[in-house]
Amino acid sequence: MIDASRCTGCGWCVAACPLNLLSLEPQGWKKHAVIDDEATCTGCKKCEKRCLFKALRVTTAH
Ligand code: SF4
Ligand code: SF4
Repeated sequence: MIDASRCTGCGWCVAACPLNLLSLEPQGWKKHAVIDDEATCTGCKKCEKRCLFKALRVTTAH
């Protein structure tokens, strides 16, 4: 769902999720977004629309 190699760690998606399912996780020298509770995701795609870098794609089929 989140392509860590494209993610810049900007945090836009984290702020966009109405359910607060996303957070930034440090990995090596950079941060990238992770989804904390994929089962709760409604698939609203607010995070996907926010991502300027096309690092995030909502694939949950709810
Ligand atoms: S698609 Fe899921 S993770 Fe993305 S903003 Fe909506 S509820 Fe949050
Ligand atoms: S908006 Fe995109 S680039 Fe920014 S932290 Fe989220 S997934 Fe990464």
